[in-house]
Amino acid sequence: MTDIQHQAPDDLLMGYATGALPQAFDLVIATHVSLCDDARARLEAFEAVGGAVLEDLDQVDVAEDSLEQTLAKITGGAPAERPIVMPGTFPTPLQSVVGGDEEAVRWRYVGRGVKQCVLHSDENGTARLLKIPAGRSMPEHSHNGTEMTLVLKGAFRDEDGVFARGDIEVADPNVSHTPIAEPGEDCICLVATDARLKFQGLLPRIAQPFLGI
Ligand code: ZN
Repeated sequence: MTDIQHQAPDDLLMGYATGALPQAFDLVIATHVSLCDDARARLEAFEAVGGAVLEDLDQVDVAEDSLEQTLAKITGGAPAERPIVMPGTFPTPLQSVVGGDEEAVRWRYVGRGVKQCVLHSDENGTARLLKIPAGRSMPEHSHNGTEMTLVLKGAFRDEDGVFARGDIEVADPNVSHTPIAEPGEDCICLVATDARLKFQGLLPRIAQPFLGI
């Protein structure tokens, strides 16, 4: 069963299935589908269709069958197996990158009580963990590229709604927001970006080169 309100959109799942995403985004999607049965089922459908098309175009008569029938043929109608889940805050794909669960993270303060830990960075994107104290807001910002935020613990709220464990928010250059951690529990997120954020306020802009966000 799944209770995830904000799921990864199909284009990102397809990008993951075809290996087209930057590595930083791969990590977020892999972690998200570990927490979200619906997103994992959609991903497996894309992988099955992609694999079948590559293996034998003749076997899958896409013109005559609906997508559901095609998928049932490919998968034999069997439900997808659940991935192995290690106990803890972080799902397995994230634990393998961090080298453990929450207590293994080497946090660094980036100001306003917010901590971060960069997990991966290359010319195509950066993946980082952010820990925002309960009730605290991040500076208002917009985006030069794509930002994917997956909640692992606690929750945050912004102009788009409330995001809790397993929820993913995808922001692009059209989105400007001020995420605020919900009261009660610190919010830990896994965030992937492919470009630097655009902060609205003067102080965050000045601090940005030092924080590397
Ligand atoms: Zn953002």
